[in-house]
Amino acid sequence: MFQKVHLYLTAMCAGITAAIMIVMSLCYLYISEKGLYDNQYTSFQNDINTITTSLEQQSVISMEWLSKMESSGNYSFFVMDNGIPFLYNRLGGFSEMTDTEELLEKCLDTYHASYEYEYTVTGKELNSGLYNTCFHAEFPFNPNGGRHEFYASVIELNRNDSSLQMVILHSLDFLKEQIRRQRVRFLLIDVTAVLVLTLFSFFFTGRLLQPIIENRRRQTAFIAAASHELRTPLSVILTAVDCCHNADAKKQQGFLDTIQQEGALMSSLINDMLTLSNSDNHNFPIRPKEVELDTLLMNTYEAFEPVARKKSQTLSITLPDTSVPVCMADDERISQVLSILLHNAISYTPAGGQIELSLQYKKSRFYLTVSDTGIGIPDEDKKKIFDRFYRAEKSRSTKGHFGLGLSIAAEIIKFHHGTITVSDNPGGGSIFTVMLP
Ligand code: ADP
Repeated sequence: MFQKVHLYLTAMCAGITAAIMIVMSLCYLYISEKGLYDNQYTSFQNDINTITTSLEQQSVISMEWLSKMESSGNYSFFVMDNGIPFLYNRLGGFSEMTDTEELLEKCLDTYHASYEYEYTVTGKELNSGLYNTCFHAEFPFNPNGGRHEFYASVIELNRNDSSLQMVILHSLDFLKEQIRRQRVRFLLIDVTAVLVLTLFSFFFTGRLLQPIIENRRRQTAFIAAASHELRTPLSVILTAVDCCHNADAKKQQGFLDTIQQEGALMSSLINDMLTLSNSDNHNFPIRPKEVELDTLLMNTYEAFEPVARKKSQTLSITLPDTSVPVCMADDERISQVLSILLHNAISYTPAGGQIELSLQYKKSRFYLTVSDTGIGIPDEDKKKIFDRFYRAEKSRSTKGHFGLGLSIAAEIIKFHHGTITVSDNPGGGSIFTVMLP
């Protein structure tokens, strides 16, 4: 399932980013290509102005001049002097459009269709005196609606007795080739970027999903461990019920006691699991208030002292000589943590052992410790004991211990923004230290 989600997220992330990038590239290409055409057209118009001015000044047009103009701007000229084609006519020079006459005809048709009226209106007297009127027009020209496009200009110079008409064509093939190359470059860049984006999205979404996958794994492990733990007391209860049917009244009482005992174990396990589940769902009410920790420790000591004594252990308490400030904490939850730690200390310390409960206040922090002289915790287990359902090898057989106590304690302390750590007691056994800010 996560694989599908991973692929879906990858496709979505890469798809959206790629779509934005492609739209932006297209916008850029559109603006850039339009700019290239506009620049080319403006430059063409400027050149035509220069050519027209130059023509106005000349009484005779030389072939050298035409050739020079032609090569300087990649232009082709067609000149008609009094309606007669000039010798120097190069329109046929366009490789694939050899039909000069047809090309010329079409160009003039376009010109007449668009500019003749304008010509009569805008024709003007010239200062030079060589010609009476001069007119030139520039326009985009696409002869057959095909791929060869031009910027074209028609210049008309008229005198009383003579006229000069010049058609100038500037092929856009070079510009179009430039634009085509730019498009290919962009396509390659976009394709590479989409590939890189897809790879990046794959790793990125993979990392995003990691905590969810881990959480799911832990949940599955939790359910498996919980089912396993619940099955043991349940099978004892079922066996006891079975035996109850055929037993005499005296034995029946024994079985009923077992059922009650195992039922209580199941109930405590279910309560622990609910506590952890609430914590996972952030539904773990912590109600901080001003707590006098020394009083709280003293009450806990009084509650556990008889239990320790019953197991022939000595439970002692050490409190600071001076009174400590109040701590903002949930007193019930902190009592619960101390109960878990003391319960463990009593369970994992043999008869005759020492257990100590103490409180210290240093640098605005409270340190609550529970130390014992019990079986101790191997270094490799020190981190794992805070995991759910984890029990160190030595304590596996201890009945009524499901490996949830310390994980509940850790959750409670986490919600108080404190820490809980374990270390070795120099005299043997373990020391659990809770730090509260
Ligand atoms: P449990 O209910 O099994 O005690 P905990 O989460 O409280 O579960 O503890 C996890 C494991 O840590 C225990 O099974 C035990 O192996 C180890 N442990 C906890 N406290 C002590 C202690 N005071 N001395 C030795 N081992 C301990």
